[in-house]
Amino acid sequence: MNVYHIVTPTMPVQDTAMTQPADAAGASVAIIGTGIAGLACARALADAGLAVTLFDKARGPGGRMSSRRRPNAVVDLGAQAFSARTPAFSAELESWISAGCAAPWPVSTWRAGPDGWQSLEDGRERFSGAPRMSAITRHLAGRLEQAHASLHSHTRITAVEGTAGALRLHSEAGDIFEPYTDVVVAVPPPQAEPLVQPLDNALGQLCRQLEQRACWAGWAIFDAPLPKPAGVDADWQQAHVDHTALRLVSRNHTKPGRGDQPESVSLVAQTDWSETHLGDAPERVADTLLDALESLFPGRPLPRRLDAGAHRWRYSQPVAGQAAMPDAGFASGSAGLSLCGDSLAGGRVEDAWLSGDRLGWHLARSLTGCD
Ligand SMILES: Cc1cc2nc3c(=O)[nH]c(=O)nc-3n(C[C@H](O)[C@H](O)[C@H](O)COP(=O)(O)OP(=O)(O)OC[C@H]3O[C@@H](n4cnc5c(N)ncnc54)[C@H](O)[C@@H]3O)c2cc1C
Repeated sequence: MNVYHIVTPTMPVQDTAMTQPADAAGASVAIIGTGIAGLACARALADAGLAVTLFDKARGPGGRMSSRRRPNAVVDLGAQAFSARTPAFSAELESWISAGCAAPWPVSTWRAGPDGWQSLEDGRERFSGAPRMSAITRHLAGRLEQAHASLHSHTRITAVEGTAGALRLHSEAGDIFEPYTDVVVAVPPPQAEPLVQPLDNALGQLCRQLEQRACWAGWAIFDAPLPKPAGVDADWQQAHVDHTALRLVSRNHTKPGRGDQPESVSLVAQTDWSETHLGDAPERVADTLLDALESLFPGRPLPRRLDAGAHRWRYSQPVAGQAAMPDAGFASGSAGLSLCGDSLAGGRVEDAWLSGDRLGWHLARSLTGCD
């Protein structure tokens, strides 16, 4: 039976308590956040036969692996590519490649700055979503269709109440969801802190220690290809940039499954610059990042811009080198609350997936009593 459904904001009735299904053992787990960590956690729990309900404030799953559809092209707004360094994540990645939602990219990477362009090759294979980064998280949400999982999108959770074994969630819209034996909070620590602090001071304190950096991510769509730098492939795919404002350029139309879209770049800003310009208007940020892009082609203007914009990530990645729980990759508290996500494990897509997967199996073992 397919019980997976996307719940739109029109469905809940305000101030109505919604009873959630429990599995045969009486366990029912709520997961706040459907980024890669929350989805990986849900998958492990569902595989163990446990009832799972997911919530996200956004329109769909993905979090920092989301993409934006524009009339002419799709651009990735968060992670542009990722690598696999562990056997567990490599096996998961293989399943995504087999399903057609991930593929190798980029294979032509450069460093660009005042000294010109140099090929950048570190020998590590990288991957992207196909035909967009969010295809991976959509695929994971789709796999949950086969299990007794439901996903409430457009549902911002504002509070968790109750006691271990009987927890309830309050949404911004005034809905109450209950009861849950356990609640997994799979959101960046500054957003997790107000949810866990009232019930678990230690988890709240941990969240306050996990600083997150902000980042602007711009994008632009052009009516013709970018100028070709001397000595560089015409089909170059990604460039790490030595510029005060701009850190990374990705050419979305070179990503797997997007060959039919016009020249379309994602422009990831430097974190220091982003934090200084956090309050700027997105149009101004996009203009600055496009000026920085133009400076990489001295004396040659960019083609005509069809569309451009910028997205502000207040919580983009943890401070470099900061991993709260490098061994476990997650944190479990005493009140039935647990934390997972990239901040607990490292700061990359792989870290976030490992964090959610490990927490999911840890909870499954403790709730079912099986190894
Ligand atoms: C610009 C940028 C570039 C990056 N580049 C790379 C890269 O090159 N390689 C790499 O490996 N990684 C990169 N990353 C990092 C990578 O994207 C993250 O590590 C990973 O996606 C984090 O996943 P997560 O599930 O932990 O969190 P998220 O993806 O942030 O998921 C959290 C989810 O929680 C939801 N949420 C938050 N609060 C609430 C609430 N109160 N109620 C309901 N829902 C809520 C959010 O909407 C979101 O969907 C980049 C990130 C950014 C922003």
